[in-house]
Amino acid sequence: MEHNDLQPALTMLSEDEVLLRDSVAEFAEAQVRPLVREMDEHAKIPKELLVKLFELGVMGIEIPEQFGGGGASFFHGVLAVEAFSVVDPSVGALVDVQNTLVVNAILRWGSDDVKQRYLPRLAADTVGAYALSEAGSGSDAFALTTRAIPDGDGYVLNGRKLWITNGNEADIFLIFATINPEAGYRGVTAFVVERGFPGFTVGRKEDKLGIRASSTCELIIEDCRVSKAQILGEPGKGYKVAIETLNEGRIGIGAQMIGIAKGALGHAVKYTKERRQFGKAIAEFQLVQGQLARMATEVEAARLLVYNSARLRDAGKPFLTEAAMAKLYSSEVAERVTSLAVNLYGGYGYVKDYPVEKLWRDAKIGQIYEGTSNMQLVTIAKQLLG
Ligand SMILES: Cc1cc2nc3c(=O)[nH]c(=O)nc-3n(C[C@H](O)[C@H](O)[C@H](O)COP(=O)(O)OP(=O)(O)OC[C@H]3O[C@@H](n4cnc5c(N)ncnc54)[C@H](O)[C@@H]3O)c2cc1C
Repeated sequence: MEHNDLQPALTMLSEDEVLLRDSVAEFAEAQVRPLVREMDEHAKIPKELLVKLFELGVMGIEIPEQFGGGGASFFHGVLAVEAFSVVDPSVGALVDVQNTLVVNAILRWGSDDVKQRYLPRLAADTVGAYALSEAGSGSDAFALTTRAIPDGDGYVLNGRKLWITNGNEADIFLIFATINPEAGYRGVTAFVVERGFPGFTVGRKEDKLGIRASSTCELIIEDCRVSKAQILGEPGKGYKVAIETLNEGRIGIGAQMIGIAKGALGHAVKYTKERRQFGKAIAEFQLVQGQLARMATEVEAARLLVYNSARLRDAGKPFLTEAAMAKLYSSEVAERVTSLAVNLYGGYGYVKDYPVEKLWRDAKIGQIYEGTSNMQLVTIAKQLLG
């Protein structure tokens, strides 16, 4: 076998992948790091930072260049979400939802008209949100009750959405509603709704445990009239839009989780080399070294799962089970690694003057959103058992 027949290792990056990862990492250190604590306390991402994210080109990574986007791959998006999440997982969440859910859904399912109207805005200056969940429908997402009733050449929407990431910043919302509740999942239809549409309001913002700067909002939809041109995909096929984008979105959450874990490990390595007890740096104790080594091994294993599912997706290969495994495992690793980082900081790990307690709080969401860990297990088991 010729050497050049060999596949590159998963963690070997192309030149432009390295360029994107490094530019995001540099930006995150310089522009995000100084704001992290304040953003957590005030539960807000400043407008100026949003503007800079658009300037950096990370809000439309996969949007084709003709629409003003980066024309890059899904894997590039994963690298960006990971690099942001090392510094601040809330910014990671913002960038993730924009790219892996909103842009992704419009690229795949949008009509030419929808693409022309929305992709340039999403690349340039407009945040998007993805609204599937409701108070009564989370894991059982297609039990949603938001109604879309046909009216002339369009629909009138009524209902409420809960837990919508980017709700505070977004101007474009993908809203899933049913055109026929009796038809179950076959009634679900995806609509593009703009913040300014009459009858659409962003409601209460949640006060959360972690990723506090990432907004999570209720949406109130009362007699909101939309034309047929706002449908994403086809009427009654919104379940496909939802399932297929979430299957991919999950890989983005995996990227957020490995970023968090990498961030916590970095802090722990630095701190244990500095902190002295019993006359030496605590990193000199073999028990501490073992903890650090285990953390590093778990981060690497999680990264391989995430990168592999992203590479499979870009190669057009099946990746459903791999993505579920990546999200399940990386979110568990993020929780364990951040928890160990808190332990290694001792009392200092428990207070907000140091960065690790926040990462521990931030990690928890990985086991809940875009399908809880139980739902990932269900997906994996289904594939195993046929
Ligand atoms: C910070 C945050 C951001 C979010 N962002 C968004 C967003 O942008 N857009 C959006 O649409 N949604 C969003 N969500 C919603 C999120 O996807 C749901 O919270 C999640 O899917 C779980 O749904 P639920 O909260 O209704 O929990 P439930 O579905 O009620 O689950 C409760 C528990 O029951 C378990 N369970 C449920 N069904 C089963 C089953 N069949 N087998 C085994 N166990 C089961 C679950 O695993 C879980 O442990 C967000 C949530 C949060 C907290």
